[in-house]
Amino acid sequence: MRIEEDLKLDFKDVLIRPKRSTLRSRIEVDLNREYKFLHGKYTWHGVPIIASNMDHTGTFAMAKVLAEHQLLTAISKFMPKKDWQDFAAKHDGLQNNIFITAGSSDNDFNNLRDILKVIDYQMICLDIANGYSQHFVDALKRVRSTFPDKVIMAGNVVTGEMAEELILSGADIVKVGIGPGSVCITRKKTGVGYPQLSAIIECADAAHGLRGHVCADGGCTVPGDVVKAFAAGADFVMLGGMFAGHDECEGEVFTEKGRSYKRFYGMSSTEAMNKYAGGIADYRSSEGKSVNVCYRGAVENTVLDILGGLRSACTYVGAKKLKELSKCTTFVRVTQQLNEVYVDQEMKDCR
Ligand code: 5GP
Repeated sequence: MRIEEDLKLDFKDVLIRPKRSTLRSRIEVDLNREYKFLHGKYTWHGVPIIASNMDHTGTFAMAKVLAEHQLLTAISKFMPKKDWQDFAAKHDGLQNNIFITAGSSDNDFNNLRDILKVIDYQMICLDIANGYSQHFVDALKRVRSTFPDKVIMAGNVVTGEMAEELILSGADIVKVGIGPGSVCITRKKTGVGYPQLSAIIECADAAHGLRGHVCADGGCTVPGDVVKAFAAGADFVMLGGMFAGHDECEGEVFTEKGRSYKRFYGMSSTEAMNKYAGGIADYRSSEGKSVNVCYRGAVENTVLDILGGLRSACTYVGAKKLKELSKCTTFVRVTQQLNEVYVDQEMKDCR
């Protein structure tokens, strides 16, 4: 047994130090990025924020609205093939904004191949809770050799050496995060995890050295966390909980004690496993939870709030473009983030 004594940090442990800036207004800030990838032949451009491939947020309704703002959506891997066909037939031009998700099983691989036979989308999200398994690396190599030109995002991992391994095995984008998610209980059940800000910094450093990209996945609770993820070196940021509870999410709005909610569950929760796997096998435990989240109306308001925060952050540090944000960032370690004296008033968001 070994102990690593280096302090590892989370979003809550830092703030961004403001710097003298010549930017006069947030309007001057450009949040668009253009990426060429190590393996995939596709050049992507847009605002690099992705709705998570969870049932609740990885919907076509979400994809349509986010695409209007050049944001991306990773569609849930449980989306029926028929719905893919209907969607692609009706909507042209959304190829740039959509990831098709698959896990590491043969069944998922066949499903992915079937979808790509009829729909010429460019981006694949290979998602598994534990990106350290050799089985996953083999699945990634198989997808890469079958689709040499596609952009592949793969994860999740939290350490530089595994980010490198995934890139060398065919990933263009490494998805980073084990345990930080809003409905994740992996750390509680297993004791495994890594503070997310440090995971992003270390994986970005390793991936960028190989001309790979990283996507920070999980743990963002407010727009300021999204800013910190980009400032730490993330090329993309994936959001689940921050996009939950909106009209575009799966599920119905329901009312309890005069307040409106939507159900939101982790993809390894008992609820998800009952739905897709006929329950939890007795050799494993649930590593996700189910919650009722406040109903928040149209997701567009949340998108604008996040983009507004990002632009504002850029003006505080003198970054004219999102691309410059991490170069312009000095993090300061803090012991307190917020003054929470009126925190209860925020419940007014729950209508
Ligand atoms: P959030 O933005 O809500 O903090 O985090 C979203 C991420 O949490 C997802 O993109 C996914 O990587 C992760 N996640 C989703 N469901 C589960 C789950 O049931 N268990 C765990 N461990 N992680 C989950």
